Amino acid sequence: MPQLRQDPSTNEWVIMAKERAKRPDQFRKDKKKKIVPEKDAECPFCPGNESKTPPEVLAYGTGKLGNVSDWRVRVIPNKYSALVPEGDLARTEREDFFRWMDGVGQHEVVIETPSHNRFIHLVEEKEVGEIILAYRERYRMLREDPRYNLIIIFKNHGEAAGTSLEHPHSQIVATPIVPAYIRRKYEVSTQYYDNTGRCLYCDMVKKEFRDGSRIVMESEDFVVFHPFASRSPFETVIVPQRHCCSFGDISDDEAREFAGVLRIILQKIYLGLNDPDFNYVIHTAPTKDENKDYYLWHLQLLPRLTTVAGFELGSGIYINTALPEDTAAYLREVPIQ
Ligand SMILES: [Zn+2]
Ligand SMILES: [Zn+2]
Repeated sequence: MPQLRQDPSTNEWVIMAKERAKRPDQFRKDKKKKIVPEKDAECPFCPGNESKTPPEVLAYGTGKLGNVSDWRVRVIPNKYSALVPEGDLARTEREDFFRWMDGVGQHEVVIETPSHNRFIHLVEEKEVGEIILAYRERYRMLREDPRYNLIIIFKNHGEAAGTSLEHPHSQIVATPIVPAYIRRKYEVSTQYYDNTGRCLYCDMVKKEFRDGSRIVMESEDFVVFHPFASRSPFETVIVPQRHCCSFGDISDDEAREFAGVLRIILQKIYLGLNDPDFNYVIHTAPTKDENKDYYLWHLQLLPRLTTVAGFELGSGIYINTALPEDTAAYLREVPIQ
């Protein structure tokens, strides 16, 4: 019998298609290893081509800014920016109905490594650590700008995940608005807090620990699990064990440990599913709500193994063809290098 499961953080329902469910190993990509060169003369993110990008806003490695080639991690404004850091924040209602405003915001690219083919799931823990520190540094800088209300850090890996540029990179977008999707999550957790006096996310983590079947791994400060109402196979979340609303407030030690856990999870996904395309997103509180007791920052990783179809588009109800209990058990056993 299929099962409808409700996500406690959004109140959304998901269909767990138990009968149609595949074995976790059936999601392994059947593809040959693609040979990617270490350097591509045409790539704007490769060293030597710094002049092809806008001036950098952060670089680790040189001790100085200025589009020089001696860097390990580099952050630049996106040349094809979704939002721009100028304009008016006022909402305008034209013809008394449609609301719009200038596309104010900031859109940055984190070039994770000088090497064209050192993908994040293949690098050393120290290198992941520098990427996380770059995320945090830019996050802290952007939240100082009173125009911005939400800062989203994300990565698209592979064509199915929406990237056109091969060179390992992630992105940061700061927006002046808090979108309805984030507000909804916030409202659900606020209501839970008002009813129980406790943080929904911290309770969810406790519950996952008690149950155990969906836990992939844990470290001193973090836990990784496959959510009870996962919307797609192998959806994975990394959650801090200490209550903390904002990614911007993690300590150096937590950043280091988070990098280590992220690296292990990315390797397990890479090895266990044969290099699937994936997205990850760091969910964090809106910048004006960073000190609340009822939101917990976390990373959500979504391997792109299935396609969203008409039923999902029409209903918002996702059909998941793998049980999180099964996929978590599978991922637990994948050895890392
Ligand atoms: Zn490159
Ligand atoms: Zn909490």
